[in-house]
Order: sequence, then C-alpha cells, then structure tokens
Amino acid sequence: MSRVFNFSAGPAAIPDAVLERVRGDIPDWNGTGMSVMEISHRSKDFLGVAAKAEQDVRDLLAIPDNYSVLFAQGGATLQFAMVPLNLAAKGDTVDYVLTGTWSKKAIAEAENHCRVNIAADASPGNFTDIPPEDTWRRSDEAAYLHYTPNETIAGVEFQFVPDVGDTPLVADMSSCILSRPIDVSQFGVIYAGAQKNIGPAGLTLVIVRNDFLSRARASIPSLLRYSVYAESDSMSNTPPVFAWYVAGLVFEYLKDLGGLAAMAEINERKSAKLYAAIDKSDFYSNPVSKDCRSWMNVTFVLKDSSLDAKFLTESKAAGLTNLKGHRSVGGMRASIYNAVPEAAVDALIDFMRDFEQSNGWGRTSVSN
Ligand code: PMP
Repeated sequence: MSRVFNFSAGPAAIPDAVLERVRGDIPDWNGTGMSVMEISHRSKDFLGVAAKAEQDVRDLLAIPDNYSVLFAQGGATLQFAMVPLNLAAKGDTVDYVLTGTWSKKAIAEAENHCRVNIAADASPGNFTDIPPEDTWRRSDEAAYLHYTPNETIAGVEFQFVPDVGDTPLVADMSSCILSRPIDVSQFGVIYAGAQKNIGPAGLTLVIVRNDFLSRARASIPSLLRYSVYAESDSMSNTPPVFAWYVAGLVFEYLKDLGGLAAMAEINERKSAKLYAAIDKSDFYSNPVSKDCRSWMNVTFVLKDSSLDAKFLTESKAAGLTNLKGHRSVGGMRASIYNAVPEAAVDALIDFMRDFEQSNGWGRTSVSN
C-alpha cells in the first residue's frame, strides 16, 4: 500500500491494519462467499459482528450496565435535534455551553425544540478559551446541560468534565471519543459521529443512560426515539452494516493496542510535541489558551499568510495531506486522531522546520 500521512478532520484516517483486514475480508467474509455488505443484517453472522462491536466499545469505555449503546445514523447533527426531543419537553429550559462552531450549531437546533439558556459563552475570546466553570450561569431547572468537549474547528478541548451536580450532562464527543479514558457514569448522553475516531461516516454512536430512554416526546418519528434503538438492538431498520463492521474492527484494534489508557499516552505525546514545535517558532503560532488545547485537532497559522498556499502545496507533495484549516478560521489544522501515527506528527514537524527555514525564517528552529 502506498499511503500518505492524512491529517483530515473527518472523514479521517483509519488504521492501516484495519484497512488491510477489510481488504482481505471483502470478497469472502467469514467463509460466507460474500462480503459483509451483502448479507442480511439479521443473519447470525452479522448479529455476531454487531454484538462483538458493542461489547468491545463497552469494554474500551468501561460503559456501565445501566447505559445503552446505540448504533444510529444521521451523524452528530441529527443528535443536535434528538437530544432535546428525547430529553426535554417543549417548554423546558436546557443549558448549553457555547465554545465554538459545533456547539453553536447544537444550540441553533435545540432552539427549535425548547428554551435554551447559554450557560457560558466563549465568543468574546473568539473561541480560543473556555470560560472558567465558576463563571457559568446555569439555570435551576435545566433538563440537561450540553457541551462540546472538543471543538474540532478551532482545536479547543475541555481538559475537565463540567461538574453539574444532578443535571444530566450531554456531550458531543464526535472528535474526541476513544482518545482517552472517560468516566461514562458522569454523563447522561454521549454521542459521536463515527468518521473521526471510530470508522467510516454513516454511523453515529450514542451512549444513553437507561432512565433517559423513556422521556421522549410523544409525537416524534420512531427513528428519532432512543428507546426504539435500545429495544431493537439498533436494528429497527437496516443499519449501516459496513460502517458498523469497520467500527468493530477499530474497537478490536484499540483493545489490542492496550485500550484507551495507552491511546491517551500516545495522543498526549503526539499533540505535546506538535504544540512545542509551534510554540518554539516565531513563524507558526496557535492562538488557543494552553489549558484547553486539543489533543486531536492542532491548529496553527503562518506568520506570513501569503505563504499558506505554498505550505499546502509543498506539504502535500511531501506526503502530508489535508492540512488546510477550516474555511471559517483559515490557517492550518493537523487532525491527529488515534489512527494518525506518531511518525506522521514527526514528519510534519520536520516539514514545518524545513519550510520555515527555506522561506527565510531559519533563526528560530522547529525541531523534534
Ligand atoms: N460535532 C462535532 C464536534 C464535529 O466535529 C462534527 C463534524 N465535524 C459534527 C458535530 C457534525 O457531525 P456530522 O457531520 O456527523 O453530523
């Protein structure tokens, strides 16, 4: 295989070992003479895949028994609506923490379904920091508090779990799930689109505490109802079988690597060396407060933005792809999810140093 180092924000890199396995499995999976895409989701073979994937993700995240694991569709964006529709009545107040583009979208959707109180707002700092928890203005009777532990676009990540007492905590973990261990019992609902740390797009992982399965509004469509997924093992209609199978292989791969504690160590190291290289240089900079820099999405700008296009062309030629920052913020973004090897980060740091020097900025050095 000829593979580049892929820093895409999502759909993102999938581990080489998983891709090799998929390639081998495609024509004749499990001795069936068919690929996994060509068999019934209700067949014994596929039910085995589904159950193992669920068990493996339960093991990885140490998900307690009083939580259901749902394999849904519609991406994290559909969860922006499903969360209020399942957890809050129309007149209820819900708390949201506004820390960037994705929490903003979640808020806009929730406003269609209940009363939203913005408990904290990071927009005055241009979404480069997280307002200290003691400044949050939470409502007394919030049906839940929603936050976005990792804002994928600006590269801002909570390094703590909000302490909200008895208020159910809802987290959009699309771009940080499986990057480190978490204590699931602190959350009411966790959701994540698969296309970053889980597998192919088309699958959405939802982890729901069982007492939130029965609160949905009466009038919503069945496929928007958490209980329908929980009661049918996420098979009330045809699930995205291929994405589910690949997600299962990713879970297996992460377990073999030593689970999330091992991943956390690698992820912390990868991001720390990249931030250190940026901070050491006068040519690259990252505006995010040091206490909330993302392990997964490392953003940086060049001092001379007229060199952006050249940086992108030359990095691509060097086998480092998808480094362009999101169109809303510009600059660069290196998404270094679980499947992006440490060697990719080392190669990026070397490239950045060389680029800096060859463009007349060699006085400070970016190195490993
Ligand atoms: N939330 C976050 C934190 C994201 O990064 C994304 C996608 N980049 C979304 C939500 C939207 O996800 P989807 O495209 O799966 O709806």
